[in-house]
Amino acid sequence: MKYRHELYPMLSVEEALEKVLTMFHPLEAECVPVLETLGRVLAEDIIAKGDIPPHPNTAMDGYAVQAADLAGAGPTSPKRLRVIENLAAGYLATQRVTPGTAIRIMTGAPMPDGADAVIPFEETHQDGEWVDCFAAIRVGENVRPAGEDVRAGERTLARGTRIRPQEIGMLAALGYSKVAVIRRPRVAILATGDELVDIEAPLLPGKIRNANSYSNAAQVLQYGGIPLLLGIARDTVDDLTARIRAGLTQGADLLITSGGVSVGDFDVVKTVLAAEGEISFWRVRMKPGKPLAFGYITADVNGTPRTVPLLGMPGNPVSAMVSFELFARPAILTMLGVKDLHKPTFEAILDQAIPRKDGRRHYVRVRLERRADGFHAVLTGDQGSGILNSMVQSDGLAIIPEEWNHVPAGTRVQAMPFDAGVLLE
Ligand code: AMP
Ligand code: MG
Repeated sequence: MKYRHELYPMLSVEEALEKVLTMFHPLEAECVPVLETLGRVLAEDIIAKGDIPPHPNTAMDGYAVQAADLAGAGPTSPKRLRVIENLAAGYLATQRVTPGTAIRIMTGAPMPDGADAVIPFEETHQDGEWVDCFAAIRVGENVRPAGEDVRAGERTLARGTRIRPQEIGMLAALGYSKVAVIRRPRVAILATGDELVDIEAPLLPGKIRNANSYSNAAQVLQYGGIPLLLGIARDTVDDLTARIRAGLTQGADLLITSGGVSVGDFDVVKTVLAAEGEISFWRVRMKPGKPLAFGYITADVNGTPRTVPLLGMPGNPVSAMVSFELFARPAILTMLGVKDLHKPTFEAILDQAIPRKDGRRHYVRVRLERRADGFHAVLTGDQGSGILNSMVQSDGLAIIPEEWNHVPAGTRVQAMPFDAGVLLE
């Protein structure tokens, strides 16, 4: 089958993304150990089984007292109390605080019966069994009431919440060792091209190493998916077909290919994709990464037909990564149950002019430098879509809208920083 390049629809990034996202929905829930929930979305409401803290306790190291005993105390007029017990966190007092007495108490220890306030060590001086208190205090001062953080029966975390370290701490505090979250999508990754060899293979004349499978797999991990590496497909119908089918057999929720979606003579990828499912080939008004394939592949897996969405990235290493950011990232997040797909951007001042003539949205690789007048975006050298080093040197992408024809140095642009964390956006 032959495709005429000018027949491919030309779409904006938003139009392409909207079409892509129609194919994705949150996956099913699974119950996993609490630490494995990081970056994932809660599939159940979390109800507090008890108060946190479970008992009133002291917020300071000091003495548990009856506030009335210290009325009128001051730097030159201390009140003297008898210390009847020494209480560490984790233990209950054996005695009651009565007028004229105090219990020495450590942060977190439960308030003894009879006491209604805690005077910190800094305001006291102990001498044997007596303590002089140099300040008056209010009832309840330095006391943390039961349930001040979380009340029993309260919905502490709602279904749909994205889990960060603080939610993990809360789940632990509430006694949830396992939690229902949306499962992580399995994303199969296939490189295509007769010129490609894998990391450890000898680099024979005419060959280059497969970079995209690894950068894309790392992006899958970064956004919370599970990468399945399908290797390198030769530019032949048989090899491509076999590997794509293998991806489906391995339970992929999404297939990502790189290469073979532009207009080169050897781009059998398009023919195979079209034969194995329903695929559209688009030209997206973006740079790098104009060609994009999207649709679904159907194959028989153990007698049952399985249909899996496919995203076909361009082959150039920068294009493959930028296209992933724009299209695969939101798809993966949608499958993870994340609702806010917007990637945060902030304003930066361009240090260099950007030559323009093509009406495409440019995603230029920049270093982000904090200076007195704000963040500056400094281009990382050659911006060719094959220059992976422009990504390596950069902190993020500066976005040059398609409708700007003149972009002088000093222009304020939106910059999208790359992520540092694994499993979190
Ligand atoms: P294609 O889209 O297949 O025409 O490839 C465009 C360019 O990207 C060519 O120079 C390819 O050699 C290169 N390329 C394709 N796939 C990869 C890959 N997995 N790793 C590194 N470069 C690639
Ligand atoms: Mg190719």
